Amino acid sequence: MGIVVVGTVAFDTVETPFGREENVLGGSATYFSTSASFFTDVSLVAVVGEDFPQEHVTFLQSRNIDTTGLQRIPGKTFHWSGRYGYDLNEAETLDTQLNVLMDFQPELPESYRDSEYLFLANIDPDLQMKVLEQVEKPKLVACDTMNFWISSKPEALKKVLQKVDIVVINEGEARQFTGEANLVKAARQIIALGCKRLVVKRGEYGVLMFTADSVFAAPAYPLEEVFDPTGAGDTFAGGFMGYLANTGDLSEEGLRQAIVFGSVMASFNVEDFSLNRMKRLQYKEIQTRFASFKALTSFRDISF
Ligand code: AMP
Repeated sequence: MGIVVVGTVAFDTVETPFGREENVLGGSATYFSTSASFFTDVSLVAVVGEDFPQEHVTFLQSRNIDTTGLQRIPGKTFHWSGRYGYDLNEAETLDTQLNVLMDFQPELPESYRDSEYLFLANIDPDLQMKVLEQVEKPKLVACDTMNFWISSKPEALKKVLQKVDIVVINEGEARQFTGEANLVKAARQIIALGCKRLVVKRGEYGVLMFTADSVFAAPAYPLEEVFDPTGAGDTFAGGFMGYLANTGDLSEEGLRQAIVFGSVMASFNVEDFSLNRMKRLQYKEIQTRFASFKALTSFRDISF
């Protein structure tokens, strides 16, 4: 039971208080698929330009990610530049070069179409919709987005949100999208659009998962070394969806467990630039950190 993901495969230039990396591997689909690949089969849909090195494709394939849906077209690969200050929770976008993304027509290979899990990672909402039109009957569809699309294509985005089961966005975006400063009210408004669940990523403060009548909170793992938060959101989503696809358990309990696996994966990703930490991550480390998470939030019950 694998996952299909559509999103960006990118070159990123990232500046944090701890260093600067230029034209490194990034992109929403890259982070998502690498993270999910620790739990399930992943099939990728994205576009790159002629300048994209084969070495990065080989890396994705080495994680057993199906790259049949990765198109290479004339032009330059999507490029994002961002900066983080000492508050590592929010990136400041310095530049977005859409490049080949402007001509991208996502095409799901025949072998992807009956997939039960679909993740619409951060990409143009019009493209997310085109992908939704090509899938048969997924068991679970989730999507992400970001401020860039909220301000440039709010109506297209609203249509996508109406068609998915779970929306995964960050705190600032939930506020921006609804124009509502209070997060609980913002969550209610997004759920009222038609999705069943909303997962709000809050950087170092963890994650909140809302339904119309429940809320679940998970902390972020308290790390001593955070180098680069880029991709934390997508890596979270990859762990979350990857674990769900692995177990097939979409109960409230199953979803809560998946939230913790997502948080575990994100906690590794921020320990190094680009996908460097994910490249050397071992499954054993995931298990150990899951146990640490459990210990972190465990306390004695009381009978009143
Ligand atoms: P996050 O998980 O939110 O930190 O996402 C980081 C990734 O999003 C980076 O690797 C970027 O390449 C990618 N990205 C940045 N801007 C956009 C955009 N407008 N559309 C799609 N992907 C983007």
